[in-house]
Amino acid sequence: MSIVRSILLAAAQNQAINDFALKSRVVKRATRAFMPGERPDDALDAGAVLTKDGRKLLYTKLGEAITNIGEADAVRDHYLWLFDQLKERGLPACVSIKPTQLGLDQSEARCLEHCLALATKAESVGSALWIDMEDSSYVDRTLALYETVKATSPRTGLALQAYLFRTPKDIERLRPLKPIIRLVKGAYAEPATVAFPTKSDTDAAYEAISRTMLDWATTGECTPVFGTHDIALLERLVAYADGIRVEKGKYEIHMLYGIREKEQARFRRDGHAVATLISYGNAWFRWYMRRLAERPANVLFVARSIFG
Ligand SMILES: Cc1cc2nc3c(=O)[nH]c(=O)nc-3n(C[C@H](O)[C@H](O)[C@H](O)COP(=O)(O)OP(=O)(O)OC[C@H]3O[C@@H](n4cnc5c(N)ncnc54)[C@H](O)[C@@H]3O)c2cc1C
Repeated sequence: MSIVRSILLAAAQNQAINDFALKSRVVKRATRAFMPGERPDDALDAGAVLTKDGRKLLYTKLGEAITNIGEADAVRDHYLWLFDQLKERGLPACVSIKPTQLGLDQSEARCLEHCLALATKAESVGSALWIDMEDSSYVDRTLALYETVKATSPRTGLALQAYLFRTPKDIERLRPLKPIIRLVKGAYAEPATVAFPTKSDTDAAYEAISRTMLDWATTGECTPVFGTHDIALLERLVAYADGIRVEKGKYEIHMLYGIREKEQARFRRDGHAVATLISYGNAWFRWYMRRLAERPANVLFVARSIFG
């Protein structure tokens, strides 16, 4: 792992830096490259503009690792409200949640209850629920959660991380459920005992797992979603899908708001199913530090916006 990436991911866990950043107007301004604003309305308005080219949206309210279960109830209520907003505004959008934000650390049973309620609500408004994957200590519990929710709400999707050694086995385990998997490279600081320490190994794992998912898509056993901004990799996967006759609508490409926007629009013009994930909320610090860690050149971008 590069030194800059390690420092940024360590800073993401530091409370003092977190508190400073949340109060700093300049840092807040710098986050605007990756989020249209803190308010749900900022995210909904920005999303409405993006959907003009036919792409879909994903929404996430930032905040993870809550400290009491009451907060999880409030997050559930917020997302129930959001689903109604999506319907009212006619936005083709899903919601992506983090299990720890819905109480996974405090009560697995309550977290499951919340996920089931959200997935049911999603389906009632023609949307779907996505479950994000957090650090490796949560994978077993998140898989169990997904298995239960997917059984009652079949449109539910799950993120899996290519950098974890265990992911090929996890996908194999989910295969009988015809899973909807968004494969991402992985955003957390993980030990070398559980994850590839080098980017090239992660990239290779990503491609191999993606090809497997596309193979399964030929028989309807998986809906693959590629959550990456790695354009060369995406082009290779598109060519592979073409070669084995997996049509464009049978897999999707998901990217984050503000990153590779021109490529998102180009994939859409080429007839791909594209979705942009938009984050909002005031608990942006940890999430923002992970975005910086993904591309240390972003630190220069922030420095430039701070120092003019
Ligand atoms: C829709 C979506 C959902 C995600 N959900 C999860 C999740 O649930 N759990 C999880 O662990 N991770 C998640 N991630 C983050 C993911 O794990 C990676 O950390 C992130 O996508 C960066 O890796 P990459 O695949 O884009 O490829 P990289 O090889 O890191 O980057 C490819 C190229 O994209 C550009 N790029 C990448 N990131 C940035 C950035 N932040 N700013 C500017 N340019 C950038 C760079 O030019 C880079 O050269 C998600 C990502 C996406 C797109």
